[in-house]
Amino acid sequence: MTRSTPRGTHDPMSPTAAAPPEPPDVDHHDYDDSDTHAAGETIVRRNPDEADTSARQSLADLLGRLGWEGRDAQSVMAGAVARSLAAKQHLLVEAPTGTGKSLAYLVPAAEQARATGAPVVVVTATKALQQQVLDADSPLLARLWPDLEIRLMKGRGNYACLSRVQAIADGTEETLFDEVVDPHVWGELLSWTDTTDTGDRADAPDGVTNAMWSKVSVGPKECVGAKNCQFAQQCFAEKAGIAARDADIVVTNSHLYLLDAAIGGSDETDDSDGKDSLPWSPILPPHRDVIVDEAHKLAETASRVFGVEIRHGRGKTIKGVCKGLVKDEQLDGVVAADDRLLAELLSFTETGPVDPSVGNLNIALDDYLLAVRSVAKKVSGIVVAVTQPKDAEKKKRALNVLGGAIEDLAAVLRAGEDEDNDDVVWVEGDGRRKPVLKMAPVDVGPLLDRYVFSRRTVAMCSATMTVGGDFNAAAEELGLTAGTWDSVSVPSPFDHANNGLLYIPMGRNKPLTRADGTVLPAVEALVPGPNATDFRDRANDLTLRMIEAAEGRALLLFTSWKALNDTTEWLRDRVPYTVLAQGDKPTGRLLAEFMADEQSVLCMTATGWEGISAPGPSCSLVVIDRIPFPRRDDPLINAQRELATKNRRSDFHSVDVPKAARMLAQGVGRLIRTVSDTGVVAVLDTRLGTKRSYNGTLLGSLPPFKRSIHLDEEVLPFLRAIAEDRRDKVPPIGTPTAVETVDDDDAFDGIDEAA
Ligand code: SF4
Repeated sequence: MTRSTPRGTHDPMSPTAAAPPEPPDVDHHDYDDSDTHAAGETIVRRNPDEADTSARQSLADLLGRLGWEGRDAQSVMAGAVARSLAAKQHLLVEAPTGTGKSLAYLVPAAEQARATGAPVVVVTATKALQQQVLDADSPLLARLWPDLEIRLMKGRGNYACLSRVQAIADGTEETLFDEVVDPHVWGELLSWTDTTDTGDRADAPDGVTNAMWSKVSVGPKECVGAKNCQFAQQCFAEKAGIAARDADIVVTNSHLYLLDAAIGGSDETDDSDGKDSLPWSPILPPHRDVIVDEAHKLAETASRVFGVEIRHGRGKTIKGVCKGLVKDEQLDGVVAADDRLLAELLSFTETGPVDPSVGNLNIALDDYLLAVRSVAKKVSGIVVAVTQPKDAEKKKRALNVLGGAIEDLAAVLRAGEDEDNDDVVWVEGDGRRKPVLKMAPVDVGPLLDRYVFSRRTVAMCSATMTVGGDFNAAAEELGLTAGTWDSVSVPSPFDHANNGLLYIPMGRNKPLTRADGTVLPAVEALVPGPNATDFRDRANDLTLRMIEAAEGRALLLFTSWKALNDTTEWLRDRVPYTVLAQGDKPTGRLLAEFMADEQSVLCMTATGWEGISAPGPSCSLVVIDRIPFPRRDDPLINAQRELATKNRRSDFHSVDVPKAARMLAQGVGRLIRTVSDTGVVAVLDTRLGTKRSYNGTLLGSLPPFKRSIHLDEEVLPFLRAIAEDRRDKVPPIGTPTAVETVDDDDAFDGIDEAA
């Protein structure tokens, strides 16, 4: 069985492989780094028992200095992470919200780095979390280790590229925008590149759009490499990379980390001489030890990084960077080929798998590849005088851009032609945005094993790592080999059993006598199964009753945009509270308003399930409309189902149930965010109570709430009591409170309405 090869690493000997005229430079730093860590350098080994004890002690010291109370769960996690890094054993940690997991991994990371003399890389799921480690946690660690160096490492595309800015100023690169841009903001951006110290997009003027930024920055494949760049000494990305080389802890995001891993290759470190050595890294400093936060998202990110996305507009980028090197007519041919591919993709009216080896799609891809190759051949043949470094740089960048396009197009064509290829190719489109041609490996496990786990020691943590209390599904998805990993699940600091109630509106035809003697009557199910025609109406009625009892303060989570829109409109006519809905405003602003107006109701799908945190009285009711099974029409998940069937396993139990369990646990986890939070989670999908073949796994993945099916006797009185308690304390509407913002992720809508 053949496996896909990550972009940037494909086998040039493959029959359909592209032959870029020159291999693109990887995103590496070329300065003298004699004071920094080098690949192959040996690092100190530590005793796992001592590392465990030491990390716990350091954590206790740090908390003591901060005047904070120690928590057993945090100490257990810190010890386990330290032990895993010292023992070179991968680790999976389930650390519920409130554990204090960032300090629980940063303290052992700091100790490991200081003891071994090699940096530890901390990988977060988003750039926002990356910044949080630097802004919030780094000053805390400085209380214990004032000289500890923690550096952020962002991808090259986050920094302005001075070479490109100069090319725009010279007029040697054309800026062809696909959309209308504000000329004033564009001018401000160009001036800013002259004065900024960081070149970081986070510091760029307000109003800069993605389209503008893409013109003044380069990805790793477009950068000509510091050796070839006349701006190397001033280059913002290079300077940030060099600063990170001296760090004890390097904080990066999972996308950049996996890109580094993919380009870095798969050579295993040879420790047979009894010494540990540092594996090479093309982007990050050489390192062996890695900690991954929010690790339940690692496989999904790997699928994107190890895959390919072909978007319309690349033709214009090629025309821009090749301007002056090749005749305009030939460049117009590339733009036309890009347009023809778009026209072909538009003929697919909805998301679905495609075969790139047949029909008009094959012709469009082939034509596009031919057009790009022909330009690449011309550019490659240009002779540049050594006295013309600017021209050499332009040629190099053009070849890098062309090489990237050739590689992606050839990879998609190869996936269609090679029968043994496991990659899935599909068109993703929703009728609103331009369709995108995507390719991804069905199973990222072997790739993660080859590029990450076989070369590094990785401790991974998340609040939702297990499925039904078991780590095996996560280990399998990640490609961890049996015997190479350990696991630890630390208890939640929250009293879920007393502070929260899990309500399922199912029926029971006999009365129930509780252990304390209370007799609860027989009940009728208040909503039918989720596929019944009157499900939405009955679910809305029930939701309204709970919102009235809670006096607002509700977060409603939906599995589709349609359900979100229908219920939002229905509620707005019936409740006296503000009803906020995803899509009306950026997620960060919605959350700020939800927190500020304590009695508001927030309706979310997509990011709402795991991207928001609303601690405190704004959220005493979470309503989940359906079990979030993955969509039946998702091409990648369908391929995973087929693979499971081929391996004689139940596709439903090995693919759908684990994904639903993790997502449901994330959604349910929105309710209790602090020790003082209380409330009800209502899951309106009665299958959670009735489907014996899988409900145990789903329920076993949730916090240990008390469960109830009694609306009038238990759920509504509990909500009313919370509302009563808040009645005199409700601050005036609009009172600002601390808000945790999130990245918007409009692309996510991966939940099945029809499961
Ligand atoms: S090295 Fe040169 S081409 Fe690469 S990002 Fe820096 S300025 Fe741009």
